[in-house]
Amino acid sequence: MIVKTYEEMFGQKLTIKDLVNGFIEDTKTGKVTGFGGKLDIRPPYQREFVYELDKQKAVIQTILARYPLNVMYWAKKDDDTFELMDGQQRTISICKYQTDQYSVDVEVANKRMAKTFSNLGDKKQAFLNYPVTVYICDGTEDEKLAWFRIINIAGLKLTEQEMRNAIYNGTWATDAKRYFSRVEGEGFSSEGHESNGHTYGDYVNVAGGKRSEKENAVVRQKLFEIVLEWVVDDYNRKNNSTGSDKMTIDNYMDSHRRDSDARELWRYYEDVIEWVKSTFPTYRDFMKTVEWGILYNIYGKSTPIDADQRVSQIMAKANEISNIKNVYLAVLSGDLKYLNARAFDKRDIARKYAEQNGVCPYCKKKYNEDEMHGDHIRPWSKGGKTEYENLQMLCTECNLKKSNYDVKYLPWDTSIYEDFDLEVWDAENSDGKEYMTCLYPLQQYGYNIAFTYLITEFITMIIYIIQWGFYWRSRLVSWSAFHVLGRLGQPIFY
Ligand SMILES: [Zn+2]
Repeated sequence: MIVKTYEEMFGQKLTIKDLVNGFIEDTKTGKVTGFGGKLDIRPPYQREFVYELDKQKAVIQTILARYPLNVMYWAKKDDDTFELMDGQQRTISICKYQTDQYSVDVEVANKRMAKTFSNLGDKKQAFLNYPVTVYICDGTEDEKLAWFRIINIAGLKLTEQEMRNAIYNGTWATDAKRYFSRVEGEGFSSEGHESNGHTYGDYVNVAGGKRSEKENAVVRQKLFEIVLEWVVDDYNRKNNSTGSDKMTIDNYMDSHRRDSDARELWRYYEDVIEWVKSTFPTYRDFMKTVEWGILYNIYGKSTPIDADQRVSQIMAKANEISNIKNVYLAVLSGDLKYLNARAFDKRDIARKYAEQNGVCPYCKKKYNEDEMHGDHIRPWSKGGKTEYENLQMLCTECNLKKSNYDVKYLPWDTSIYEDFDLEVWDAENSDGKEYMTCLYPLQQYGYNIAFTYLITEFITMIIYIIQWGFYWRSRLVSWSAFHVLGRLGQPIFY
């Protein structure tokens, strides 16, 4: 690959006048051209224009103050046209200003005044003559993309997904971006088949709470990335892929790169969100923080018919739950372990520990405070509240046994709760193995077998003692043989 400066290639410097020549922004196709129609300012792998107005103004002020702008990179194409690899935002800021699309504060006779390009007066010519430093690279498609990636890694400008779009660009990526990379695209703004007043974007965790943050995240490919994560997870589950066999987003994009369109991905996403809407018709604000695609991949085919009602039942005591986001996972899996009871207050824990004198009420042994746990006397899953009256301090072992006992209960199970009884639990759950002592056979098989066992043990012990004797005798012989016979040269034993 060859890299030259514009000056080396054309024998003169590139000025803003050359750059803005024939600037066209086609809002229908999204195509932007400049440099006399020969520069594609927004090639397929470039992200959408996201500069805020104040950043655009800063570019113009840099130029008017005659400070240098950062280097820009163009790639030469086969037909002697160019595409812009790096510098899109600066180039568009310049072109938009030159076509009077916004104004910038300019110092005129010690006063700051907002001026469009047409009103710049004698500063106009200096603006147009400002030299722009451009490097032009000429090479294969792969070389250009590899270089594009390096430029962007160095500048830390693109998100991971923007980078992937650049590398796996093609018909498929272009079509997919139509759905997922635009604020007005179907993936974000559509209400789907059964409208419920919420758009698809209300079910996806693209960014924080503010509308503008979300829109920016969509443009910066966050939605696209989420959907790809889901579909790749689906593929890996269906194919039982684990470890290094797992498909990645890169693999997926590479394998679809030449597809004519991205309808398959769109339909998958549509299935996910329509499933959420029909399974959980009540919209709840935190739904946008749930990884719906993953839940769909696991539970989409077997969904409890009263799922939404179960969520409501759990939500009725939401203030008792520490991780309410997991309510959908808990309902779909039928497993309460995904919901945790709110923890007891630290001061309540200390007070209760003192009140119990550090004694565990079940095993009656004494422990340090850090060896005990705050337990709901009436289990939280059976409606027990996280309040002082329902608190007891248990040792780790008893706490574990009691929680294993409690887990049998689900919040929508209204059967009566029987108090946990440690002795009953131990009797039901013990198979005797933990009493593996010398009395074990006696307890298990009665005296006759125990007697045989003890005799066997006794004989084994005698054999050991005899062997031990032989061992020491042989040690003595060999010691003597070495030290005594060896030195004196005559036998004294045997
Ligand atoms: Zn205990």
